[in-house]
Amino acid sequence: MAGLIPEDKIDEVRSAAKIVDVVSQHLSLKKAGRNFLGLCPFHAEKTPSFTVNEEKQIFHCFGCGQGGNVFSFLMLYHNIEFPEAVRMVARKYGIHVTTKGMSPGQKRRLEQKDGLFRINQLAVGYFKDKLLKGSSGKPAREYLRKRRITQGIIEEFSLGYAPAGWDNLIRYFSSIGISLGDVEKAGLIIPKKQGYYDRFRARIIFPIVDIREKVVGFGGRCLDDSLPKYLNSPETPVYHKGRTLYGLSAAKQVCRQKDSVFVVEGYFDLLALNCHGIHNVVATLGTALTSDHIRILKGYAGQVILVFDSDKAGVKAAERSLSLFMEEKVEARIMSLPADKDPDSYLQESGGEKFLGLAEQALPIMGFIIESAINRYGLSLEGKIKIIEALKGPLGSMTNSVGRAVYIKELSKRLDIDEAAILERVRHSSHKKDKQTDPSIRPVANSLKLEETLIAMVLQSPNILSRFNAEQVIESMQSLKLKEIGKMVLDRYSANRLSVGADLVMQTEDPGIRNLISSLMVMDGSWDQDNCLKIVRQYETCLQRRHEKLLSKKIKDAEESNDEVLLHRLLTEKQKCVRGRLGLAQK
Ligand SMILES: [Zn+2]
Repeated sequence: MAGLIPEDKIDEVRSAAKIVDVVSQHLSLKKAGRNFLGLCPFHAEKTPSFTVNEEKQIFHCFGCGQGGNVFSFLMLYHNIEFPEAVRMVARKYGIHVTTKGMSPGQKRRLEQKDGLFRINQLAVGYFKDKLLKGSSGKPAREYLRKRRITQGIIEEFSLGYAPAGWDNLIRYFSSIGISLGDVEKAGLIIPKKQGYYDRFRARIIFPIVDIREKVVGFGGRCLDDSLPKYLNSPETPVYHKGRTLYGLSAAKQVCRQKDSVFVVEGYFDLLALNCHGIHNVVATLGTALTSDHIRILKGYAGQVILVFDSDKAGVKAAERSLSLFMEEKVEARIMSLPADKDPDSYLQESGGEKFLGLAEQALPIMGFIIESAINRYGLSLEGKIKIIEALKGPLGSMTNSVGRAVYIKELSKRLDIDEAAILERVRHSSHKKDKQTDPSIRPVANSLKLEETLIAMVLQSPNILSRFNAEQVIESMQSLKLKEIGKMVLDRYSANRLSVGADLVMQTEDPGIRNLISSLMVMDGSWDQDNCLKIVRQYETCLQRRHEKLLSKKIKDAEESNDEVLLHRLLTEKQKCVRGRLGLAQK
């Protein structure tokens, strides 16, 4: 896999890259001893087990087992291929990498994505121009002024305007010689019987930017009451709704400082918050929150505050997202705005301070669901029955049994109904999801543990290889994966390239082996020479015991089949073995 971009280029990019910097762009890392720790973006967790080692330029998650170097991180996080990951790092550090040497498929996909980014960027320029200059943009400027969007915000979010008409953008791209087929792939124009027409017409344009600051798609809002009010780009090779949050790139710094993020539904809600000095906000793009969204968000903030337009929509969304947040182990609260207010209209009337005051009172999702049910059904006898019917599902799906008990107790007080009776209803619908076993905690056989330690040792301290018969030791390993890694280290070592783990993980395309290497690279141990040789001797003893055991079995078989000659040979061999082992142990 490494051969597709010139090896020396990869070396150059890798040695320039700092894994802590690159990973930090995507999640918060805190220094812990010789490592950095953060919440893993690849599995749900509350306590950080995602480990980055600066010295070895490697990451490993002790929760889900994912691991690798700076390139594998980007490949996993952005779901991209190796050459693209190399280029992403190269760009960050100002290194030029050509596409020479890539497979035709990789080259084509990469060029296609680059092409789409370029078209989107050009479109941003075009739309911006139309908004800021000329008479066609006048209604849009007027509209934004009425909605009190400041000039600073217009610029920060690169807002634009798609003028009325069916072929404005088509004429623009034609005039600069860009193929309309490519513009169609970017989702900006739509084919018709003959030719194309503009997707966005007479709309304010919101460029959607990903965390790499690339324009991946667009949203458009019409200026009057025509429908649909909002229009978004379709999914393209660079735009995936379920993984994209509007405004994240601009918000991520503040999200980290505040350790919280507001999630709103619309573009104008987000802009209004920004206009009122609240910058830790993202917007979902007309889709429900996905677990991918939540995983991305948890890289930037410990607490998510959902802001919904109305109570009714809020309750639905809250029930939907409750299990998602629980699965991802992310703390989420729901903020209730007064009836008939959306964040935008609330802010215009009451201002940012009041908004933040309301946010302070935001309820945890379950609390919000309970309050809403009480408000909705009232506390009459029938009301109480309906409330419990409405809540048994959400309460039953709570995986945290302590949390559930607290809510049931609270509900019992509010409804003046016996706790046991509520519990009975909840149990009825509970999914029994409590049993969670961590797949990373598995009993490890003793000799396997030793093999692991040995490979960790040669990975972290390859010089030790010359001090024992490494080839034989590695060859006799039982774990095929560890054996393979051992051989890779040995090859590198004998080729006179002192092995570095970050280097080695690129030699394999097998994610299992790559993850194993990264976990062994960050394994703690004292790798001074004495200790290393002790480990080797321990393993050799272990090998001999294994060999003796095998001999004993063969001896038993020989006895049973009365094979005197074989028996004699085996017994002599066993004697030699035991003597040798004792001698070894006495050293
Ligand atoms: Zn993980």
